[in-house]
Amino acid sequence: MTWRQRLLLKSQAMNIAEELSKEYIRRAGKEEFPRNTDVMMDVAATLFGLDVVFDDQGMLDSRFGDDHRIIGCLFPEGHASPWGRDKLVVVNVTPPRCCREAEPRIEAEKRRRREAGEREGILMHVCKEDTFDPRPYNKNHTIAHEIIGHYALHFRKGVGGEHFRRPTYCRNPQATRKPPLEWQADYAAGEFLMPRDKVIWILDGQQPPAVINIDDGLKKRFREYFDASQAMMELRLIYLGYKLINPVYKWADYTKQEEDRRGEVQKKLRGREQERERQERLKAAKAFADIGRKLKQGSPFDGIGDAFAGFGDPFAGLGDPFGQAFKGFDGIFSGFGGRNFRNQRRK
Ligand SMILES: [Zn+2]
Ligand SMILES: [Zn+2]
Repeated sequence: MTWRQRLLLKSQAMNIAEELSKEYIRRAGKEEFPRNTDVMMDVAATLFGLDVVFDDQGMLDSRFGDDHRIIGCLFPEGHASPWGRDKLVVVNVTPPRCCREAEPRIEAEKRRRREAGEREGILMHVCKEDTFDPRPYNKNHTIAHEIIGHYALHFRKGVGGEHFRRPTYCRNPQATRKPPLEWQADYAAGEFLMPRDKVIWILDGQQPPAVINIDDGLKKRFREYFDASQAMMELRLIYLGYKLINPVYKWADYTKQEEDRRGEVQKKLRGREQERERQERLKAAKAFADIGRKLKQGSPFDGIGDAFAGFGDPFAGLGDPFGQAFKGFDGIFSGFGGRNFRNQRRK
């Protein structure tokens, strides 16, 4: 069966994760939580014959150039990887270039201070502001995203067509909205690592769309049981339809989202207002440009009457109207009779 990308529903992503979960429990002979990195490596091998490698040498980074924000990738059958083989999931754990380069410099400076008998003090490296570091991302989630999401849900079902017939490189999107195939993979991974019924159990039976206060107790319980980062926990709860209060991330805050929605409407209205003003300014600028063109054509004196027609009586009340008015027109008048013009004015 081939599913088309648009037809893939949350329920389908959830079903496939559930089926695979059951299948893994059957084959492993036990149900194990958290499904941490070790368990997920075993899942990859047991269910699909996929191996997982951790790239701490910047092999993915060097393939794509600097800072491509790659978290993980999938080389399905028939697609050789930089590791010389296929059926491979790669998790990027390479420190950012700036950190790699800073380390030897810091070590050298420490050594120098020691040898010179100076106090070592505090030496640290501060990353450039937009530096991307793949290491804090949940490795178990990255593996689940690749194997439950892109491999089982997409590649093997032909979802996404050609896109998933070649290696898949998963980036951390800088835009807030994820492409459909990415959130589908996230959703399936979330269901596998943090199954819906287990989440409800951790939340003492509260079902979506319940409002959940992310207090310290819940944080600890949830994150330990599932081996989830704070971001993964909040994302999973939102995907399941819960409304979060006091989350760490602003995008997860239910009350802020309400505010943002109201803000969006305001912004749209403001945008429309600004567009109207812009159009008016454009119109005025165009009228002004027309005047300039007219003045440039032929004798500088011919057009003046017409040119200012649109301004009513622009110089009324200015005393020395032409002296003032033409100060700004040097460019236009130079070269064709500025002097004449002044002479004539004196008559
Ligand atoms: Zn750095
Ligand atoms: Zn992906």
